[in-house]
Amino acid sequence: MQAKKGILMARSKSDIANSAIRIFLQEVGKFYDEERGYESFGPKVGQKDELLAFFSHQCCFCGTAIDRKSLSQDHLIPMNKTSLGLHAWGNVVPCCGACNNEKQQKPWREFIIQKVGQEAELRTSKIDQFVDSKNYDPSLNLHEYADNLYEDIGEVAMTLIRLRYKQAEAGIKELLKVDG
Ligand SMILES: [Zn+2]
Repeated sequence: MQAKKGILMARSKSDIANSAIRIFLQEVGKFYDEERGYESFGPKVGQKDELLAFFSHQCCFCGTAIDRKSLSQDHLIPMNKTSLGLHAWGNVVPCCGACNNEKQQKPWREFIIQKVGQEAELRTSKIDQFVDSKNYDPSLNLHEYADNLYEDIGEVAMTLIRLRYKQAEAGIKELLKVDG
C-alpha cells in the first residue's frame, strides 16, 4: 500500500513538471516570436494559411495534401524537457494526422528519411528553408533555465501536496472519531 502510493506520487511529480515545462516553452515561444517581430504563433487562421502556402498545401513530411481542417501541427524540435523546442514561428510545421501520430519525439530528419526515402532531401531542404526564413535558431539553449524549473516545480508541488494530505488525513481521522 505504501509502495503503491510512492509510485503514484513519483508519476504525478513528473506530470506536474512536464506540464510546467510546456507552459514555460509556450510563454518563451511567445516572447521569442515578438522579439523577432512576429505576432505570437497561435496558430490563428491566417497563420495556418501562411504555413499551408509555404508548404504548397502538403504535409511537410510525406507530401499528403492537407487543408486548414486536416492540418496537424508538429513541433520540429519537440516541446519536452530534453529537446526544449518552443511553440513559436519556425518550429511549428504543418503535417498530416498520420505523420503527427507516427513522428512523436523522433528527430525530424530521420523521420523524413524513414517516411519518404529518396524524396527526403527535397523535403528536408524545404523545412530548413522555412526555419531559416523565420530566423528560428535550432541551437537555442534553454537548459540553464528549464532544467531548474523541472526539478524545482516537482519538489515544491509534492511538498505542498504532502502537507495538505497530512492535514486532510488528520481531519478525516478526527471526523471518524466523532462519528464513532
Ligand atoms: Zn504526412
